[in-house]
Amino acid sequence: MHNVNGDRLIATFLDLVKIPSPSWKEHALIGYITGILKGLGIAYELFPCGESFNLLARMEGTLPGKPGIALSCHMDTVAPCENVKPLATKSRITSDGATVLGSDDKAAVAAFIEAMRVLRESGIEHGPLEFLFSCAEELGLYGIKGFDLSNMKSRFAFVFDSGGRVGRVILEAPYHTTIEVLIKGKAAHAGMEPENGISAIRVLSDILASIPHGRIDAKTTANIGLITGGKATNIVAEEAWAKIEVRSLDRKRVAAVEAKIIAMVKNKAKKAGARAQISRRLEYAGFSLKRTSAVVRRATNALMSIGAKPVYESSGGGSDTNIINRAGIKAVNLSVGMMQVHTTREYILIKDLVDSARLALALVTE
Ligand SMILES: [Zn+2]
Repeated sequence: MHNVNGDRLIATFLDLVKIPSPSWKEHALIGYITGILKGLGIAYELFPCGESFNLLARMEGTLPGKPGIALSCHMDTVAPCENVKPLATKSRITSDGATVLGSDDKAAVAAFIEAMRVLRESGIEHGPLEFLFSCAEELGLYGIKGFDLSNMKSRFAFVFDSGGRVGRVILEAPYHTTIEVLIKGKAAHAGMEPENGISAIRVLSDILASIPHGRIDAKTTANIGLITGGKATNIVAEEAWAKIEVRSLDRKRVAAVEAKIIAMVKNKAKKAGARAQISRRLEYAGFSLKRTSAVVRRATNALMSIGAKPVYESSGGGSDTNIINRAGIKAVNLSVGMMQVHTTREYILIKDLVDSARLALALVTE
């Protein structure tokens, strides 16, 4: 029924990973994808975003009245991703060890292209389809955040951007906020009059050693990720800065942990006679889907139809899925088989690459 051409799919994937596409530098990859779309006679639009573009391809439905769905992935890859030399055996594809492979998320790009080719050549009936290829996902979902999702007509979206074997269905992902703390103390000569200074580094250290950190509960984490401060050893540091993130599947827990951190910063700065500038930002909202929801049921049915066993999980990380859900399109994140991503040991099993394309096809023809 779903006749994915495995050799063609692998060839496309190998082409894709050889095209460098760091975040904001997806232009060559966009050229490759749009070349294929043109050849297939599939309409598309490029939406400028930062230094790059988001790409939306649309296929009209052949079944009148059938509601449309969207498939979504991202085009950028994490460093090191220049000069990728993929090595394919009978069962898996890796890089040569000097770079990432880029199956995150080019396995999805390849799967979507294969699904479109099969639709075009087989004449299988389908509803209206949208294929979204976002840019700059890896830097913090910048592509999808810079895209007006009202351009999309679909009520459901299937994001192909999760790791592990095909079959994983991500039902929930966290809220993620960041807090920047700037402590302003008082400079003084460190040798001649240290008693006249207030060390911002000392105050910040005390704060950072006290705030909630690491795994806080089953749904909540916090991390101090960046820190700078001071100018020289002979100056009592006037300024020190840190950036902290808080994540939780539970919105209220994010707010509670944030409030605790902010209160501790204010309190400790005040006690030390320093000033604190605090800014916080919601990086993205979380989402939570029920197994019985329509979008998850469709994913489940499609997985069963290709003989894959659905495994339902929650994620500690964000993806374009968070933003698409926030915009009112029900979206679920599905695994494409990418393994050990964001490392030079990244690989994908050929079975999973093929299953990803079969899954895309099953979703659009269900
Ligand atoms: Zn990804």
